[in-house]
Amino acid sequence: MTIKNVAIIGGGTAGWITANHLGKALEKEQIQITLIEDPDTPIIGVGEGTVPMMRQTLQHFGISESEFISQCDATFKQSIKFVNWLDKHQHGENNYYHHLFDYPFPFNEDLTPYWLNKTEQSFADTVSFQGLVCDNFKAPKRITDKEYEGATTYAYHLNAAKFAKLLKKHAEEQFGVKYLSAKITDVTFSEDGSIRELLTDKAESLPFDFYVDSSGFQGFLIEKKLNVGLIDKSKELLTNTAIAVQVPTEKDRIIPPYTISTAHQAGWIWDIALPERRGVGFVFSNNHLNTDLAYQKVERYIGRSLDELSPREIKMRIGFREKFWAHNCVAIGLSQGFVEPLEATALLLTDFSAKLLAERFPRDKQTLAPLARRYNEQLTEVWTNTLDFIKLHYCISDRTDSDFWIDNRAPETISQRLADRLAIWQQTNPVRSDFPSKIEVFDIENYLYVLYGMKFKTAPPELDLNYSNRAEQQSAQVNQMAKKLAEELPQHRELLVKIAKYGLNQI
Ligand SMILES: Cc1cc2nc3c(=O)[nH]c(=O)nc-3n(C[C@H](O)[C@H](O)[C@H](O)COP(=O)(O)OP(=O)(O)OC[C@H]3O[C@@H](n4cnc5c(N)ncnc54)[C@H](O)[C@@H]3O)c2cc1C
Repeated sequence: MTIKNVAIIGGGTAGWITANHLGKALEKEQIQITLIEDPDTPIIGVGEGTVPMMRQTLQHFGISESEFISQCDATFKQSIKFVNWLDKHQHGENNYYHHLFDYPFPFNEDLTPYWLNKTEQSFADTVSFQGLVCDNFKAPKRITDKEYEGATTYAYHLNAAKFAKLLKKHAEEQFGVKYLSAKITDVTFSEDGSIRELLTDKAESLPFDFYVDSSGFQGFLIEKKLNVGLIDKSKELLTNTAIAVQVPTEKDRIIPPYTISTAHQAGWIWDIALPERRGVGFVFSNNHLNTDLAYQKVERYIGRSLDELSPREIKMRIGFREKFWAHNCVAIGLSQGFVEPLEATALLLTDFSAKLLAERFPRDKQTLAPLARRYNEQLTEVWTNTLDFIKLHYCISDRTDSDFWIDNRAPETISQRLADRLAIWQQTNPVRSDFPSKIEVFDIENYLYVLYGMKFKTAPPELDLNYSNRAEQQSAQVNQMAKKLAEELPQHRELLVKIAKYGLNQI
């Protein structure tokens, strides 16, 4: 009845992030982890934007930040800069706001009521010094800062294929994870419906006690073998296709320390800068825009023909599993579900799910059922929250230039919980008790940056004079600090060159 042998199906970033989390958590126990990958099914190879949780994860695995940056062509990400998400006639051509990674209010007082009364400066610049750092293309840290520490909060942009390779090497060398190159063609079941063994194309049978399905969109175990369906969310999030392309850049080009997300008539374009190329992708709804036109939009955006750039067209199935853990199998990664990549949620959810599994890994088969119920409950909550947060970006936009934007505001496409929150926030600004869940991956800070970056209208509250004076002072301090940091921090590319040459301070 004990669980001693674990199989992970799939060698994409999800499989290897899970292998490292489980490897680290079970390091001192007699549990063998084997990752099996079909050599003929390539990994999806997109997924270049991360969020700050990745920093803690890499440090937890024991990977050196300098090594990670050099080996994965990583750059620093401090924000997502949303361009043209508001009506250009009202807010100007190329209107933008930052969803920053630094927590707002560095002096701990909520400056939102103050800002609502006094709106000359952007919300982000009133409550954080990071916007100016970003606008000046500055790095979040100096070469003398310790690994994984910085003057501002940051995540990374990275080369997805190189990242999977680094994670593989680390899991094998540090945690003794075994790697097997084989295509799983079928499984056999025990009487209770759990998976007994995997069958491969070489006619082997491989029995394990516990299985992680990281086989990508198809969900080989969770969907094809265990028949767990996907809860379709395509009526809430309307985009369903992506065209992804990599554009080589000059070696001395400025590297923005943020992802650029530019809204278009039927979706948006991501633009992620690595040292020698940009990853660009158009995410759109093919119910609102003809695919040929979408290709033309990408060409117009990058300013060159796609002929020599081998663009990839990827269909996106928006939704999440009815269950994430069924019997002795857990789905992690794209097999778990997908929401469009607007806030780099996929690697976040993968990391979150793998960590949750590692923290509560079943040591025997009796605990499978209670742990599965707990896992399914928590992940359903996290996915539902994530969906609401992505939807927020669309449904509070005032763009009316196409059916796509108008359809996105239709009440039937907005969950009741999000609609209720928005109704409340028209009267009073968000407060922490609006976010009661302890496992909210997008919390009040994220909502504040997006809501007020998008000029959501909350009635300005009456201000007490003492608060008003304090807020005025703190906002002036934020501005001073922003100027100081924007001057002192190195240029983003300059720091990356130094890291490649000298490495970061490891002590
Ligand atoms: C357009 C787009 C943009 C994205 N952008 C971002 C982003 O900016 N940030 C972010 O966090 N995420 C992003 N993602 C998501 C991200 O790409 C994925 O979450 C990540 O790459 C993990 O994928 P995966 O490992 O689950 O699947 P995959 O990379 O598809 O790997 C599947 C693995 O399963 C193996 N396999 C499949 N079938 C079998 C079988 N029968 N037997 C054995 N092995 C098998 C394959 O060989 C492969 O190794 C994006 C996704 C898309 C579609």
